[in-house]
Amino acid sequence: MAEWLKGQVARKTRWNDTHYSLAIDAEGPDFVAGQFIRVGMDLGSERVGRPYSLVNPPHEPLLEIFFNVVPEGPLSSELAALDVGDELLLTDAANGFLTLQEVPAQARDLWMLATGTGVGPFLSMLQTDEPWQRFDRVVLGYGVRYADNLGYRELIERLQRTHAERFHFVPFVTGEAVANALPGRIPDAIVDGSLEARVGARLNAESSHVMLCGHSGMIADAVAALEARGMRRHRRREPGHISTEKYH
Ligand SMILES: Cc1cc2nc3c(=O)[nH]c(=O)nc-3n(C[C@H](O)[C@H](O)[C@H](O)COP(=O)(O)OP(=O)(O)OC[C@H]3O[C@@H](n4cnc5c(N)ncnc54)[C@H](O)[C@@H]3O)c2cc1C
Repeated sequence: MAEWLKGQVARKTRWNDTHYSLAIDAEGPDFVAGQFIRVGMDLGSERVGRPYSLVNPPHEPLLEIFFNVVPEGPLSSELAALDVGDELLLTDAANGFLTLQEVPAQARDLWMLATGTGVGPFLSMLQTDEPWQRFDRVVLGYGVRYADNLGYRELIERLQRTHAERFHFVPFVTGEAVANALPGRIPDAIVDGSLEARVGARLNAESSHVMLCGHSGMIADAVAALEARGMRRHRRREPGHISTEKYH
């Protein structure tokens, strides 16, 4: 059973009215890029803890989470109200299998597809050396409703500059027309081929591994679209081509 540790907010980023990041100073835990911890606060007489993916790469000293305020959600609004210097709780162990260690060795192209704050674990992985050593192509598809929900644009632009030949960033914005963003949902862009056309590569069982993170509806529809192409969920005992992590 994981124990609770104390942490202190070292940096707060407000991306817009609903999206925030907190960088937390704490002793541990160790983690692999893509994993999540539980973050908690004592609210009244109750300790409320929720899982959050770590956005920072493991070699960086501060632990960072990226979250949106969920209306009537007990913890997210309290986290958004924290300021630099405030204390919060986190577990001393990280968990989760949405990691590059779980991606079979034969995959040449890595497709990371996220909605909303589900981009977090991918940003952690992209700041390590492993994706750039292992894959010919790395795609980050990042779906949001409005363009100002796209966090971490500077980091993504830096990755584009550093890995110009290998890295393909594809924003999806469903709620307004935005230059360079695909207009629909990620699963629809898999079905109609517009994601592949944008990247200039095929999504298939021979060369691709797809990681999906975020909203359960996006994940279910994307898995169905990929299964229609002969891809299947990855399991350790039965290697496949699709890894998922559902936030809500
Ligand atoms: C493995 C895992 C990792 C997660 N990592 C992150 C993360 O990195 N960043 C992050 O923002 N959230 C993440 N979540 C969701 C997070 O744990 C909380 O559920 C969320 O922040 C809301 O917390 P809450 O206490 O305010 O509301 P909750 O009581 O947790 O949820 C209230 C309602 O809001 C829904 N909900 C949960 N998350 C969202 C969301 N992002 N947008 C809209 N509705 C939502 C829930 O399904 C529920 O119906 C993760 C969830 C899981 C299972």
